[in-house]
Amino acid sequence: MGIKTLENADYKNKKVILRCDLNVPIKNGVISDDGRIVASLSTLRRLLEANCSVVIVAHLGRPKGEVKVELSLKPVAARLEQLIGTKVIFSDKTSGALQVATDLKPGEILLLENIRFESAETSKDESERMRLAKEIASYGNFYVGDGFGAVHRKHASVYELAKLLPSAAGDLISKEVKVLEKLTQDPLRPYGVVLGGAKVSDKIGVISNLLNKVNMLAIGGGMVFTFLAAKGIKVGKSLVENDLVPQVEKILIDAQALGVKMVLPVDIVVAPEFSIDAKPTLVSCHNIPDDQMGLDIGPKSAELFASEIKSCKTVFWNGPMGVFEFPNFANGTKVVAQALSQVDGMTVVGGGDSAAAVRQLGFADNDFSYISTGGGASLEYLEGKELPGLVALS
Ligand code: AMP
Repeated sequence: MGIKTLENADYKNKKVILRCDLNVPIKNGVISDDGRIVASLSTLRRLLEANCSVVIVAHLGRPKGEVKVELSLKPVAARLEQLIGTKVIFSDKTSGALQVATDLKPGEILLLENIRFESAETSKDESERMRLAKEIASYGNFYVGDGFGAVHRKHASVYELAKLLPSAAGDLISKEVKVLEKLTQDPLRPYGVVLGGAKVSDKIGVISNLLNKVNMLAIGGGMVFTFLAAKGIKVGKSLVENDLVPQVEKILIDAQALGVKMVLPVDIVVAPEFSIDAKPTLVSCHNIPDDQMGLDIGPKSAELFASEIKSCKTVFWNGPMGVFEFPNFANGTKVVAQALSQVDGMTVVGGGDSAAAVRQLGFADNDFSYISTGGGASLEYLEGKELPGLVALS
């Protein structure tokens, strides 16, 4: 899909509405991972250097159209100001901010309050979204879409707004799309995909779409138990999506027919309950006790995954191999991240929890070729879906 980029756009001296993804984890006003703010700086700097005034529109969490103090972007304004080194004016209104936007001068930055406090932003009613988009469009005269983590959403500030003003994709979206194009069009081989995380239902579309493109598919995390169940293996109290077992059985058959190497764990770290101090026990994947649940892949599996990963030239990874938030169940994710960092080729970590996991486990961003800022967005791209935010910028 050809998106318009800033390279050929006439954005100099404009009042730019910049849609960013500043959806960072915040607890009690403290940001624990500012990766998405950092990823937004490149476009912002470029606009300031071009004498633009910049009105930033962004969201935080899912307030569902209500004002929720804990989901205010105010702490983000403060962090952004530190990182960019220029004052960031914060407006506690999104709708109704015309005056403060009009007063903004070239070189100045205005961050509007969480756009999802407006119910029209995420409304299913196109006319409601359009009404909000029109109001925000009146704050400026050029639109830059750079919130990659939200491009799969048909939301007012992502879709309708982009169509109301001259527009282009920012540097972050341009970079993300280039990486995803490489993964879907001409990856160096062998090409491996490693998937984990809680649910098969979130990833089944990606698996189906990528199955005929990859050489190796490794599955871990909570989702692996639906795979083991599909192979007739007992999984005790582990997470299983029973309704998806037939689809997973078909994936296993298709993978064999296509010559895709399916890599599943051979040992599992189990525990009696889902808790940080649950007692871990290592078992073979064929001996998961009825009263225990699998919370991580075992060390033999982690080594198996690592050696498969290291033999690839391109690897895409999304989803932790276990409950990495609990130290006793973080080993599988750590070993896989380590292997990825040693690949002689292109490695892409796909957003959300996987990005948080690698940072929490002490890896640096440059241990990988690319860490995507959008988990859901990159998965939907790889599923082959049209992403509204990219369609609007095409
Ligand atoms: P996702 O958002 O689907 O990528 O899922 C990420 C979450 O999956 C993380 O919070 C992990 O703790 C969780 N997870 C990974 N492995 C397991 C497992 N074996 N059982 C339950 N949850 C898991």
